Amino acid sequence: MTDTGGEPPQSVPEAYPQGWIFDVALRDGGSVRFRPILPTDGDGLQYLVSKMSVDSVYFRFFRVKHELEPEELHRLTHLDYAERMAFVALADGEVVAVGRYDHKESGTPVAEVALAVMDEQQGRGIGTLLLQHLARYADAQGIVSFRAHVLADNYAMIRVFRDARFVMEHDLDEGVYTVEFPTRLSAEGRLAEEEREKVAVAESVLPVFHPTSIAVIGASRNPLSIGGRLFKNLMAAGFSGPIYPVNPGAAVVRSVKTYPTILDVPGPVDLAFIVVPARFVLDAVRQCAEKGVKGLIMITAGFSETSSEGAALENEVLEVVRQSGMRMVGPNCMGLINTDPAIRLDGQFGPRRPPTGNVAMSSQSGALGIAILDYASRLNIGISTFISIGNKADVGVNDLLMYWEDDPHTDVILLYVESFGHPRRFARIARRIARQKPIVAVKSGRTAAGARAASSHTGSLASLDVAVDALFHQAGVIRTTTLAELFDVTTLLSNQPLPAGRRVGVLTNAGGPGILAVDALESQGLEVVEFSPGLQAELRSHLTPDASVRNPVDMIASAGPDQYRACLDVLLDSDEIDTVFTIFTPASPEGERPTAAVIRDAGVAHDGDKTMIIAYMSAEGAPEELSAAEARIPNFPFPEQAARALVKAVEYAEWRAQPEGTVIEFGDVEKERARSVVASALGRFGLDGGWLEPGEVDEVLRAYGLSLARSAVAASEGEAVAVAADIGGPVVLKVISPSALHKSDVGGVVLDVEGDRAVREAFQAVVAAVPDPEGVLVQEFVGEGHEVLIGMTEDPVFGPLLVFGLGGVFVELIGDVAFRIHPLTDRDANDMISEVRSAKLLEGYRGGDPGDIPALRDALLRVSALVEDLPELMELDLNPVKVRSPGAGIRVVDARMRVRAVAGPWVPTRWDLPAARPARMA
Ligand code: ADP
Ligand code: MG
Repeated sequence: MTDTGGEPPQSVPEAYPQGWIFDVALRDGGSVRFRPILPTDGDGLQYLVSKMSVDSVYFRFFRVKHELEPEELHRLTHLDYAERMAFVALADGEVVAVGRYDHKESGTPVAEVALAVMDEQQGRGIGTLLLQHLARYADAQGIVSFRAHVLADNYAMIRVFRDARFVMEHDLDEGVYTVEFPTRLSAEGRLAEEEREKVAVAESVLPVFHPTSIAVIGASRNPLSIGGRLFKNLMAAGFSGPIYPVNPGAAVVRSVKTYPTILDVPGPVDLAFIVVPARFVLDAVRQCAEKGVKGLIMITAGFSETSSEGAALENEVLEVVRQSGMRMVGPNCMGLINTDPAIRLDGQFGPRRPPTGNVAMSSQSGALGIAILDYASRLNIGISTFISIGNKADVGVNDLLMYWEDDPHTDVILLYVESFGHPRRFARIARRIARQKPIVAVKSGRTAAGARAASSHTGSLASLDVAVDALFHQAGVIRTTTLAELFDVTTLLSNQPLPAGRRVGVLTNAGGPGILAVDALESQGLEVVEFSPGLQAELRSHLTPDASVRNPVDMIASAGPDQYRACLDVLLDSDEIDTVFTIFTPASPEGERPTAAVIRDAGVAHDGDKTMIIAYMSAEGAPEELSAAEARIPNFPFPEQAARALVKAVEYAEWRAQPEGTVIEFGDVEKERARSVVASALGRFGLDGGWLEPGEVDEVLRAYGLSLARSAVAASEGEAVAVAADIGGPVVLKVISPSALHKSDVGGVVLDVEGDRAVREAFQAVVAAVPDPEGVLVQEFVGEGHEVLIGMTEDPVFGPLLVFGLGGVFVELIGDVAFRIHPLTDRDANDMISEVRSAKLLEGYRGGDPGDIPALRDALLRVSALVEDLPELMELDLNPVKVRSPGAGIRVVDARMRVRAVAGPWVPTRWDLPAARPARMA
């Protein structure tokens, strides 16, 4: 393996945060690597300082000199990665910037921060990004703000702070500014950061989709080989720029002169396809880097998908790609297509090229990609760009989404996803894009979430697929379960306006299919509304007396083009429905094509906002009149299929119509108090962590403003009596025992106890229930209220998952729960409550007692805030929370929390660092 950092692996300290190595896209399309500093970075730092002008060496520890003393270097490179932390920025393996913080005064959550960027690298935005990374890291360590000292005339550094949009408070003292700012970004700062990310990423993948020149390394004379088929497709599509075949073994491929290596190509090359066997790949990639190629399509297979040696090779290739600032698609992919007439790029080796259109598509699987292109051409789905991303070592779905976001040729985005590299980022980006353009996805396979320890209610509820569902739901992604459904929804979305509502008018020439359609629509929650007398009369005027006009409109079998035309005009004009669902069952061969033409013309002429779909019930399929691209009305062979596609479109439209949610920040939370509880517990547990004690759990919950039932721990019967008297009224006794996960299962809980004697008896009973009693919790009895569960479990890929459900101890049995990926917006909290069917009980269903829903919503959001602030929290189970009558609030009566240390090689699932692609240590 190449070792660009120059450090032997054994020099990596134990606490080294390997999960925080990232390649970061810069606004000029280039990239740098950020990684936590290593003890071996001394030379790099020395070099950095030597390359800095006197003006730039402004920080106190970088004084005005061009060399650092050995002790100073040692101090700067030997850190604990918690109280003292530094990231270096590397370009071409060389240290070009360093950013560090020092948390000196342990009493305050403020750390001193300093930053140095090599002069010739200034102006690329490195300083701003480095500062943001450092801030994210500090936030994860519980450091609330940064303090920096800047010379008043150091405009470059002042710009860095300003660009980072940190809200600064400053103090000018003898020409030195002291700026202090929170490590957590402001909302405005986050938006600016996302905008920068989008621009940088879209810029970096532009040469992939819009190359001006292409080389094919491994272009082959053999028309059956992949290299032969690929080259043929590229030539046949009429690419707008030069195509250079590279092949040392043949002088000419398809009448085009070849070059022995890419370095022999006379002109510049934007995009290189690589189709040579895996063992030649590394050399080819190095040559591409030397040639100044900007994008690579790595078709070759035999990498991480096959073996660990393959994975190592993939890493090496990636390293060259990243160091040279190229972007790479694949390896193990089937290429890409851009149908834009100005580009005409058919860079895949499949047999079919789809029609031009407004649908962009990405497939993780290559073989499936070929099938997808085949379907797309047969179903007349027009493609703007298609790309198969294979192992997605570099370019992944998130990059593509940001490219398509502003692509004027793309209106609908299709994704075939097998695995997520960075779900948190996907959620953020998809959520933004889905508000403008629909994203339709099929997710196959299962997540690794099953590896999670399921020791709590929440843990055992989080089955394999819920995270994916939650992710798509929150991001507004339309999830389909089959490929057929993916295409059905896509034809609808790419050709028709979004349905304005759930009301559907059905027009048919056959009664049976009409009834089937109504059943299908209504079972999906759509509304086949009865028409008003006026509308019925209008329809009636065009039809025979035996037709029915209430909806469905059954024109009966004799209906021909004239009836269809007249009724469609009436329905498309009506404000009683949002969608016109036309069913046509060809009754006579002569009438078929004229009727199809009438339906098509009605659709073309319609300039309102009605959605139109057709069920064309014929084994032959719809005739040309309706199947041609110009028809623009999706037609389906069966009404059920049409109804399913329609309901997906309706749900998506409803998602978009709702206001975007916001993550609520609570002014009254005491983060420091909670963090110090966790810190002292971790001191007791060591690295593996453990369950907090009841008193600790209470304190953490209280710090986040969650109401608890009053309680205290009693060591003896006498103490229990005293506590009960202090609480007043009926109490509950619960044994505290490490062996009893669910106390009531073993008889460790006695409810509704009143009177000294009863308290003593209950004490004896619960203590006797377990072998290892450590005391008894005496708690206020909360008689009234619905029992709900609020929980969190950490998924290794998706990060924290939050869950809500009703049913107390029966919650697993009933399984009626809602999952969301952290963090919750106010909208997520509302959705979770309305998604759980049994939550209707909280509305006072059928005369039952209503519950305090606003207090419940508030509790969900407070739990989310708690999860945000305590990355050490692995599992949380509030079960039950009693939701009392409206105005009376909630009471947590049972809570458990598990924590573990987050130092060392911990992957930050909870932090999403824009424009940063995770990298591995070289
Ligand atoms: P565990 O979950 O370990 O069995 P809990 O503390 O949740 O123990 O108690 C079991 C059940 O007893 C709860 O689900 C709830 O129905 C009831 N319960 C517990 N504490 C209270 C309380 N303070 N007031 C009213 N009911 C309670
Ligand atoms: Mg419980």
